[in-house]
Amino acid sequence: MSLIVAGTGTGVGKTFVSSLLLHRYPGLAAYYKPVSTGSEPDTVTVRALAPEGAAILPETYSFAAPMSPHAAQELEGRVLDPARIHAEIARHQAHTSLIIEGIGGVLVPLTAAGLTWADLARTWGLPTLVVASSRLGTINHTLLTLEALRSRGASIAGVVLVGPAFADNRRAIERFGAVTVLGELPELESIDRQSLSTAAHHLDPGGELENLLRVSAVPRAMPQDARRVWRPYTQMKTARPAIPIQRASGAWLETVDGQRVLDGTSSWWVNIHGHGHPRLAAALAQQATELSQVLFADFVHSPAIELANALSAKTGASGSRVFFSDDGSTAVEVAIKVALQSWKNRGVEGRDLIVSLAHGYHGDTFGAMALGQGTVFHAAFSDLLMEVRHVRAACCDADGHGDEGAALPTFAEVLATEAHRVAALIIEPLVQGAGGMKIHPSAAYAELGRLAAEAGIPLISDEIFTGFGRTGTFLAGEQAGLRPEIICLSKGLTGGMMPLGATVVAESLAASFDADDRRKMLFHGHSYTGNALACRVALESLRVFEDEGSLAKVQQIQAWFSEELRQFVGHPAVAETRGIGGLAVIELHSKVGSNYLDPRGPELQTRLLGRGIHLRPLGNVVYFLPPYCITEEEVRWVFRELRSALDG
Ligand code: PMP
Repeated sequence: MSLIVAGTGTGVGKTFVSSLLLHRYPGLAAYYKPVSTGSEPDTVTVRALAPEGAAILPETYSFAAPMSPHAAQELEGRVLDPARIHAEIARHQAHTSLIIEGIGGVLVPLTAAGLTWADLARTWGLPTLVVASSRLGTINHTLLTLEALRSRGASIAGVVLVGPAFADNRRAIERFGAVTVLGELPELESIDRQSLSTAAHHLDPGGELENLLRVSAVPRAMPQDARRVWRPYTQMKTARPAIPIQRASGAWLETVDGQRVLDGTSSWWVNIHGHGHPRLAAALAQQATELSQVLFADFVHSPAIELANALSAKTGASGSRVFFSDDGSTAVEVAIKVALQSWKNRGVEGRDLIVSLAHGYHGDTFGAMALGQGTVFHAAFSDLLMEVRHVRAACCDADGHGDEGAALPTFAEVLATEAHRVAALIIEPLVQGAGGMKIHPSAAYAELGRLAAEAGIPLISDEIFTGFGRTGTFLAGEQAGLRPEIICLSKGLTGGMMPLGATVVAESLAASFDADDRRKMLFHGHSYTGNALACRVALESLRVFEDEGSLAKVQQIQAWFSEELRQFVGHPAVAETRGIGGLAVIELHSKVGSNYLDPRGPELQTRLLGRGIHLRPLGNVVYFLPPYCITEEEVRWVFRELRSALDG
């Protein structure tokens, strides 16, 4: 495995330690300094100091000005592309371990966007050896560096101190930094091959770095028995083998053999800020040291309290009480149980019907399946599902989608005949996701909301897909002026890092559960209800959402999407294009409207995978839904590839 050699600052001895490592373990690893600034590149120094025959790779970026790389680039009118360094590492790692020397301290900006060496350490998944000078201030500098690396999710191999040895320094760093000092290296009077070779034994006396460097540099292959893993929504007999993913960063997934694949579905719609977000990783790591899980019927913790309050603030009148569950389906189960039981708690019998829309999808548990309509997903269980009244969705009125949904009654018609049985209306606001990425006018939802309110029927807004900015507002329902009694959240709730569901309930319903009679409690709970790790990550994700201006990002993505979608209008393969917020849809012609089993989805998926893009069309409905960190260049590239896949 390769090792990063980073410093607490510039001039602390990174190059010295890297050269010493080459002497300590001759032939075990090649030296690579990806970026250097100044007229005397370290690679030249290392070449002169390394043992004969040592492998020294050329620098990828060398800037003449002796300053921070971000500034040196600007001065020279060049741009550092981290992907080039990444590719270089991947190429060489297939044959040998690398000693990768950083530049300056770990927070020095490498690019105009502020990418740091600490970020790269995490992205590459390589351990970092921290070099510190033992002069005054070293404890502070070393602890700061360790904290910076850890908070960005980088792992630490150990610390090496260069200069006069002070036992107190060493002890303090090991104790407060929770690391091992792998060497206290005396400053040499003259540094040359001979003196380095003699001094090498001071470094890594326990052989820990050697063990690390000896671990195969070739990425681990996934175990052969991946077929034991039963994949969701996959015909295991005919599907191509699953692609083993080793890590992910930003909008990109990386396979075990180092190929990069753009995550065009935000990993089934959950990821909003990008993969491996350092703030989410740090929040998770921090919370894991404090509390992960506790029985939630008797205990509570501040991540859950703070999150419930934050969600309540974000959801306006709906946000009186928040019930935590595990995912989207369970958030929906809780919603329908709350709706049904609240009638009973108020002494009203006979309210046993939930109304849901044609083409709806609300999850795969039994209650949630019953709410779904018009999809093939739940056919095997259709005889066993609870009675639900399905009503026409706005799209069924328009031609183009003409389908069985059009034959269903309207909500108003159901109200006219059996309002006395209706316990709640559930909707996916603005966009019906799994049902075919159908986008409806906000006025249609406003009307449904109005009818429900007039009839005194609670509205359940399933924002599991649409929440957290996807459609351009924090909640999609805002665009229709909805004031739901219940809101279901999941997916983007934790930014895609942890499974978590939340059902946000308005006081008008929640109050009916508060009684002296214990039979009126909400009879629902999961082992992992209120998981502290998930709550803490969700809270941090909400903060990142604000701090990174996520809504503005979605607005920008929407602008790129609508420009790009225009070129598909009139394409012979394309029936319709549509989009909203961070969702772009290209519906291909099909004999039966939108059709999940249409083979063109999987065909297109295979072609695009070959180009480094992962999409997962819903049959003939092709959609692109990237994390909000996607760049303009990446968006344009995906549409170019889509175009050529459709042309070809
Ligand atoms: N509701 C909606 C609107 C969804 O899109 C989904 C998932 N696609 C769910 C509920 C179910 O969520 P989960 O898969 O997390 O159970």
